[in-house]
Amino acid sequence: MSVNLQTPIDYLKGVGPNRADLLRKELNIHTYQDLLNLFPNRYIDRTRFYKINELQNNSAEVQIIGKITGFKEVAQKRGKRLVAMFQDDTGSMELVWFRGQKWIRERLKLNTPYVIFGKTNWFGGKFNMPHPDIETIDEHKRGLSSGIQPLYPSTEKLSNKGINNRVLSKIVQQLFLESKGRFVETLSPNILSELKLTSKSDALLNIHFPKSQELLAKAQYRLKFEELFYIQLQLILKNLIHKSKIKGFEFEQVGRYFNTFFNNYLPFELTGAQKRVLKEIRADLGSNAQMNRLLQGDVGSGKTIVAFMSMLMALDNGFQACLMAPTEILSIQHFNGLLEWCNHLNINIKLLTGSTKTSERKIIHKALENGELQILVGTHALLEDKVKFKNLGLAIIDEQHRFGVKQRSKLWKKNTLPPNIMVMTATPIPRTLAMSVYGDLDISVIDELPPGRKSIKTVHRYDSNRLNVFRFIRDEIAKGRQIYIVYPLIQESEALDYKDLMDGYASIERDFPKPEYQISIVHGKMKPADKDYEMQRFIKGETQIMVATTVIEVGVNVPNASVMIIESAERFGLSQLHQLRGRVGRGAEQSYCILMTSHKLSNDSKTRLETMVRTNDGFEVADVDLKLRGPGDIMGTQQSGVLNLRIADIVKDKAILQQARFYAKKVLYADPSLGNAENETILNTYKAMSKYKNIWNYIS
Ligand code: ADP
Ligand code: MG
Repeated sequence: MSVNLQTPIDYLKGVGPNRADLLRKELNIHTYQDLLNLFPNRYIDRTRFYKINELQNNSAEVQIIGKITGFKEVAQKRGKRLVAMFQDDTGSMELVWFRGQKWIRERLKLNTPYVIFGKTNWFGGKFNMPHPDIETIDEHKRGLSSGIQPLYPSTEKLSNKGINNRVLSKIVQQLFLESKGRFVETLSPNILSELKLTSKSDALLNIHFPKSQELLAKAQYRLKFEELFYIQLQLILKNLIHKSKIKGFEFEQVGRYFNTFFNNYLPFELTGAQKRVLKEIRADLGSNAQMNRLLQGDVGSGKTIVAFMSMLMALDNGFQACLMAPTEILSIQHFNGLLEWCNHLNINIKLLTGSTKTSERKIIHKALENGELQILVGTHALLEDKVKFKNLGLAIIDEQHRFGVKQRSKLWKKNTLPPNIMVMTATPIPRTLAMSVYGDLDISVIDELPPGRKSIKTVHRYDSNRLNVFRFIRDEIAKGRQIYIVYPLIQESEALDYKDLMDGYASIERDFPKPEYQISIVHGKMKPADKDYEMQRFIKGETQIMVATTVIEVGVNVPNASVMIIESAERFGLSQLHQLRGRVGRGAEQSYCILMTSHKLSNDSKTRLETMVRTNDGFEVADVDLKLRGPGDIMGTQQSGVLNLRIADIVKDKAILQQARFYAKKVLYADPSLGNAENETILNTYKAMSKYKNIWNYIS
């Protein structure tokens, strides 16, 4: 009989109520299981012992055998530090504690051999080691650990209270003693043998007490696979259940609206990718399963028309549709774009944003409820409770990553049946991330730009080259082109950034004097009406240069603008740089993006700039961004549940993720209810996880 892993951690020998409390609060460890799943952050090789006279001034982690010959307390600015004189047969050094001094003094004996481990510093002509790990020779020998030592996650509170790495390791060791190291297998025999994975018990033993580098690697591989496998299983299962259980509106026919538009008003030939994606959407909408689709496509790939034609499918079947965008500017732009097409087809379309007047609102609410209004475009205002549809058949959300799952589900509740949902994102999400975060959605990708677009040339220039850049601008303006010059505006240092912007504007006015040159300026501190006026002047071609902050990021569409200059480009993130670059290259002319920076560049900045210069491919940019920033930062906290992985890393473990998804699909497609005998282990594990863990909560 193996030990029950749901036993509260208090029951483990060596963990009293105080420690249990700390473990709960600091590391979220409530049960034996949680402790078992506290995987080390990293490992250090402790096969080697150093002598004090071998120490180098390089802050390496070393272990040394020696004795404490005395203690002293040294007063410092705040409080005091405890210093122990430590020596071996080659020399002496100091051990230093800034916290937990009482506990240390009571516990450590003079002139007794200890194994100490930690980072050394060179200070005041001596080596010292702050807060070393200390064990007696006996303790060291008795440890389950071989030469490879795990380092567990910790917090300041824990180490203050004396729960250091060694103590944690001992607690884990106790768990292995009580359970005799036998743990229930959690993967099926099929998968274990097909992938030659190590058993659960072996994996857990070697993750905590590695016997060799090779066994450690095997353990890590198996546990990473398992973690990713069950997330994928969950996502795919959800998708399958969705398709079989959740009925959506079925758009049976392709009808008048779609055909009239397609035959008479299509403004251009659709690209192959647009056609393919429309087919995918059509297949989804034509089934009675509710659609939940992510539409990815780089800036300018032509998502709008795909969205519009999907809405026509809804209208053709007597349903309403809505399109929600993250900003007012963007929803106005969408509205104006769609309005023209709608007018051809006599479709009733309206715009609803935060600034819509009450009287207009009332009209909209009424027309929505009685079904006269067919398409509603707008911002978050669409989510207000007062907004009720007669029969919303399709909801499209632009720029998905700015909205959360919560908002998605809010749209659901606007009907008896959930509407079909399509989320569009212009920031390409790396495949691995999409798989982990949106694995329950179907994904369509527009991976082809409309024909005739010249790819944008991107260069990096230092501020010292400004005169050349200005000369280039003059030449482009002489050819009739328009120019964007963008300044960073980052909230924390707003005043300073604002000054940069104004200084920049002044210097551009000097170099590009009126009346020959006209300049627009747009920034966040302006009144909306003034902003709009300036933007309109640029859109109409009355001004040749637009000086702006990132306000324009998702704003305007000016095909005649062919140069994007980004000032202090080192301060922008990759996806922002890519989005800004997408503002040019919309017309037939060759377009340019010039990244201006100072000479002082961090390594990350260099990587970002090099990436921008190297490629125009949004997916490639996104991949680099993911590597630089990590998944949590990119997706925000909304989806942190999925990204809060214990051992796997979706950037580094891409291959394992793909394998896990492949196997999760293989298992579920063959046995959707997991009822076959061979999948019993998987079913049991899955059930247990859903019961005890709330990591599934992120799924709406
Ligand atoms: P995004 O995917 O960034 O939303 P848009 O839908 O705004 O892209 O399209 C960008 C520009 O490309 C628009 O001016 C649009 O009219 C044009 N466009 C879209 N599809 C095509 C196509 N198949 N052929 C030519 N131009 C197209
Ligand atoms: Mg768009």
